[in-house]
Amino acid sequence: MSKAKAAIIPVTPFQQNCTLLWCETTNRAVVIDPGGDLPRIESAIAQARVTVDKIWLTHGHVDHVGGAADLKAKLKVPIEGPHRDDLFLLQHVVETARTFGMENAANVTPDLWLEEKDQVQLGELTFDVLHCPGHSPGSIVFFSPAQRLAIVGDVLFAGSIGRTDLPGGNHRQLLNAIRDKLLPLGDDVAIVSGHGPTSTIGRERATNPFLQSGY
Ligand SMILES: [Zn+2]
Ligand SMILES: [Zn+2]
Repeated sequence: MSKAKAAIIPVTPFQQNCTLLWCETTNRAVVIDPGGDLPRIESAIAQARVTVDKIWLTHGHVDHVGGAADLKAKLKVPIEGPHRDDLFLLQHVVETARTFGMENAANVTPDLWLEEKDQVQLGELTFDVLHCPGHSPGSIVFFSPAQRLAIVGDVLFAGSIGRTDLPGGNHRQLLNAIRDKLLPLGDDVAIVSGHGPTSTIGRERATNPFLQSGY
């Protein structure tokens, strides 16, 4: 069976985990959430000696998407995701970035919106798309049942959950999405979050203060 390999590249002043993910058998790769700092992403691609086929976006926040349009132009690859409910964020990347002092961000037009139950391909690997609104309305998670791996964006973190005080955020919706869609994936599933260290579903189920009884 083909294996997934990943390199995590923290980018932007927000230390956002841009993830270079590839299929070991084919060396085909995807760049997930290229928020900025493209030279660092490009050197990670060169170091891994992989061919990037596409860009995936978990949601529309500037630290995740600010460099997506530039990277698309450089690599000549399509942008897939997030869910179309984040359109309003992708159309205002430049203004939002400016308020954070980020200069090189550009608005994003995805080539393909993704929805619940969609599947996306990376070499010989297949990822399911889970729509998990709450942090932003169009947040999605990429999950490979075979690899036991989920790329969760800002939905769930080691020891925390996504903030819900930004436009379109909804705390109840976020908790429901985590309970109904992420926890059932299985305790053995590794998660790569948009910020901070990696974890597992099992560790978060047991220790994440936001996911204990009665939530
Ligand atoms: Zn976010
Ligand atoms: Zn973020």
